[in-house]
Amino acid sequence: MSAPSIVWFRDDLRLADHPALRAALDRDAPVIALYILDEESPGIRPLGGAARWWLHHSLASLDARLRERGGRLVLRRGPADRVVRDVVADAGAAAVYWNRRYGGPEREIDAGLKAALREDGVEVASFAGSLLFEPWTVTTGAGTHFSVYSPFWRACLALPSPRAPLPEPREIPGPVRSPASDDLADWGLLPTAPDWAGGLRDTWEPGEPAARRRLQAFLTEDIDAYDRARDQPSAGATSLLSPRLRWGELSPHTVWHEAVHAAGAGRFLSELGWREFAWHTLFHFPDLATRNLRREFDAFPWPPLRPTALRAWQRGETGYAIVDAGMRELWRTGYMHNRVRMVTASFLIKNLLIDWRHGEEWFWDTLVDADGANNPFNWQWVAGSGADAAPYFRVFNPELQASKFDKDGRYVAEWAPEYRAPDGRPPLPLVDLKSSRQAALDAYEHVKRAPRD
Ligand code: FAD
Repeated sequence: MSAPSIVWFRDDLRLADHPALRAALDRDAPVIALYILDEESPGIRPLGGAARWWLHHSLASLDARLRERGGRLVLRRGPADRVVRDVVADAGAAAVYWNRRYGGPEREIDAGLKAALREDGVEVASFAGSLLFEPWTVTTGAGTHFSVYSPFWRACLALPSPRAPLPEPREIPGPVRSPASDDLADWGLLPTAPDWAGGLRDTWEPGEPAARRRLQAFLTEDIDAYDRARDQPSAGATSLLSPRLRWGELSPHTVWHEAVHAAGAGRFLSELGWREFAWHTLFHFPDLATRNLRREFDAFPWPPLRPTALRAWQRGETGYAIVDAGMRELWRTGYMHNRVRMVTASFLIKNLLIDWRHGEEWFWDTLVDADGANNPFNWQWVAGSGADAAPYFRVFNPELQASKFDKDGRYVAEWAPEYRAPDGRPPLPLVDLKSSRQAALDAYEHVKRAPRD
């Protein structure tokens, strides 16, 4: 029997439309499905708590599906470049395949590993599986990357359409002797003391089969109303696919091809376009989570951090109904509606005058869809320091936002009921909206005066 191939799974925890897996099966040799928990390689951002919970369950689901098809998932922990080479040596593998990653440190690891394995005579190939358009293929007329969304998305749509998704394999033959695997339970991805994941369990079922069911339900039940109702947090009109795309339980190609012919798909697909734009931006600015994209924002005079204000925001105790509702939805379910993400982020940055990076970190820790590009990209968008960002002087007024997008108060009633109950006693407002907004605008004067790159 020929020497096995390794498929290194990363943020693509699925069997359908997995080009690296397809390539391994085409080699006609046993397949070793490998996942590495890498908390050691330099620059790799440690996962947040909610993400670790999701990862645990998604890996368990992937392993079960591989076993139904004759394989299994090999779990290893450690710096990825060392671990992959160990598994190649253990298994006598002749080929290693993966779908590409686009973050800076990840690309560096992958490029180094590719060169080292090739030097050892191992075949290596990488594939496009996580984005619809490879970042180096979308350029302006001058050959540079886009910094504004609309021309970016127009340029994407002018390229050949995203390829059709690959079918899910029926059989995935493993080697006679599988390399040793860690036990998933030993990774400690689930919270124990205390177990705060009850709300996550009540809300989500990680794994590819549930992801496919959600996609179908969205396409048959919700997409018609998407354009009209996507901004209303209690309407249930959005797809809830963000964690599925974050973990690659669905590929964007699958979502694209299944949605493209639906009535009203344009608006929905353009949101997938924002995901592409965020990832392309990260590709060109790998330090998106830590540095202002517009460097003049480095001159912003953040006051010393007030930990009590940050904590009140995190706990949903700001005294503003929609902000508190959103922060509690996030804490309980690991998710928050997009409109409310914008309102809560604006409140932190522009009313509490807290640096966007603190908010980004909290979302990183608590979102099940915490995404290496989408999260910092959107925080910088709200802060005004990002690509094609909302102007800094646009300060969302949480009361007006609630009256516009939660007219009947259903969202607040669900997540912060004391604001709606006749005898409810909501927290007192942490800040005055008018004066805190003015303080933010005054601080912004420093940015306006700062030299631009
Ligand atoms: P839908 O409206 O159904 O959209 C479909 C898909 O398009 C989403 O699943 C997502 O993959 C993509 N998408 C939609 N809006 C955006 C956007 N603004 N930017 C990038 N991609 C988008 N999204 C994440 O996936 N992970 C994050 O960590 C994340 N952090 C955010 C932080 C802030 C401060 C803000 C304002 C937004 C953030 N978003 C993030 C974007 C957006 O809020 C979520 O993608 C969306 O709410 C997910 O719900 P949905 O799947 O029902 O979206």
